[in-house]
Amino acid sequence: MRKKIVAGNWKMNKTLQEGVALATELKDILAVEKPNCEVVIGTPFIHLATVSELLKDSVIAVSAQNCASKASGAYTGEVSAAMVKSTGAEYVILGHSERREYYNETPEILKEKVDLALENGLKIIFCIGESLAQREANEQEAVCKAELVGSVFHLSPEQWKNIVIAYEPIWAIGTGKTATADQAEEIHAYIRKCVAEVYGAEAAEDTTILYGGSCKASNAPELFAKPDIDGGLIGGASLKAPDFKGIIDAWK
Ligand code: PEP
Repeated sequence: MRKKIVAGNWKMNKTLQEGVALATELKDILAVEKPNCEVVIGTPFIHLATVSELLKDSVIAVSAQNCASKASGAYTGEVSAAMVKSTGAEYVILGHSERREYYNETPEILKEKVDLALENGLKIIFCIGESLAQREANEQEAVCKAELVGSVFHLSPEQWKNIVIAYEPIWAIGTGKTATADQAEEIHAYIRKCVAEVYGAEAAEDTTILYGGSCKASNAPELFAKPDIDGGLIGGASLKAPDFKGIIDAWK
């Protein structure tokens, strides 16, 4: 049985104190009402150690939003996968479209990050998805496949067990424009087919594929009801505990 996951991506939001307050609020809410899915929060680097300690005995796992493409050394300002792991974080989000676009993260760079994250015992939420122009040219399948081939399809079947895919159409991220549940299901099913071609039907069935892009409490139930949508990667709506909880509740 594949895992259902609701993961938050705080992006570059929240001071350390604000992040601790949000994580505490979420922990308290979910201690009273247990979630029916795995819950992950992706915090900025500086929050990781404190928030991981805070959530140690809770149902919430912690994720970084990035890690370096080099193992260690003279790379000023970078944070390695080993450093992320040492904070107690379990996951790292890699391949987010904002990092691909603003920080020029190519498939080759992402492949290095993927390898280092796995070597250091992190699980990966790997983001893929097409731009509006690519959707209008009906290239969404080719784009998603190329992103998988470029950065994660070299992994062994054993390594693949630590990969969660997040399909995030770029035109839906932070725009309020959600893909319809049917549009999302169509591409999720295609992504699962691609996984089956490389890792076999059983591994594909076990692969968690999240939807991301203006997901909120009002549209999550319809999206999560689709057979190939296993949860969400949530940006804006993960910044307030009640909003995020509303999405987690879509699994009830
Ligand atoms: C994201 O950036 O991962 C995301 C899904 O953002 P939003 O939910 O704000 O569209």
